[in-house]
Amino acid sequence: MGETVVKLDNLVKRYGELIALDHFSLEIKEGEIFGLLGPNGSGKTTTINCLLSLLAYDKGSIEIFGKKMTPTSYDIKQQIGIIMQDVAVFDELTVYENIDYFCGLYIHDKAKRKQYVEEAIAFVGLEDFVRFRPKKLSGGLLRRLNIACGIAHKPRLIILDEPTVAVDPQSRNKILEGIAELNRNGATVIYTSHYMEEVEQLCTQIAIMDKGRKIAEGTKDELKRMIKNTETVTIEILELPDAVRSEIENLPHVYETAYIDDKFTVRCSGGRHNLIRILDVLRQNDLSFGRVYTELPTLNDVFLEITGKSLRDKED
Ligand code: ADP
Ligand code: MG
Repeated sequence: MGETVVKLDNLVKRYGELIALDHFSLEIKEGEIFGLLGPNGSGKTTTINCLLSLLAYDKGSIEIFGKKMTPTSYDIKQQIGIIMQDVAVFDELTVYENIDYFCGLYIHDKAKRKQYVEEAIAFVGLEDFVRFRPKKLSGGLLRRLNIACGIAHKPRLIILDEPTVAVDPQSRNKILEGIAELNRNGATVIYTSHYMEEVEQLCTQIAIMDKGRKIAEGTKDELKRMIKNTETVTIEILELPDAVRSEIENLPHVYETAYIDDKFTVRCSGGRHNLIRILDVLRQNDLSFGRVYTELPTLNDVFLEITGKSLRDKED
């Protein structure tokens, strides 16, 4: 991880009465896949639009590659690849012509441009569709075209705003693998999503936002360590004497239990072998039990613990 690529300092953006960004700060280092995770309406797209100087903001400052970002910073913009939430391609151009157009905004040498366009087509796997117009493509293929248009000029910084919304699983995997590969090839990536599983899988550093504010930041492990509840063990059991329940409550790392509808739930903080210790107590007391399952925390638990509501509540 090298130098700072993006620095947002105390950004405030209002839409009339609504404060869409509320003193929002971020620092993104070279080589990261930086995830901006938040429910719909939390301010992700507003952040990206301000970052790119496409939207005026009320307060704060933005630096990219160590320079102040302004609407006329073409030297900076040239090194950025943008994949917007709403697909932006020309309906009257073919797949090939669209990618060629966007690449041509930055790459003027003809031979180099042809090579870059072909590489982008291969990268997103659209070889069989080069003569198609966008209207003939499925949602997933259209997203891949949108990505090819954004990355063909080989930018240093790639920004993707919810690139997998309404995309079939095959295209989704292709997109996620592609982003990891772009990063391995040297690009710094900013990735916004309201799907925590994707952010967990892909991102090296994560900021969780809600209502225009950053509510937590770290690697996924750091974020998970912020919350007490690191493992939940659930055991289906018909009979659980109070003495056995308190024996389990006194095990190391166990901090809370509940017994409702024949389901015994044990919350454990950190530590390994929690499940084995719990089951040993049941066996020693000759208690038989049914299904057993454990859940590790997700970024949703982090969000839930900090805000008291779920990321999933707002799932579309
Ligand atoms: P996200 O991308 O995380 O879903 P947005 O940045 O699009 O969130 O929106 C943040 C907040 O700003 C939301 O409450 C949204 O309704 C509001 N908002 C976004 N764009 C506009 C606009 N052009 N005019 C008024 N309000 C807007
Ligand atoms: Mg958005």
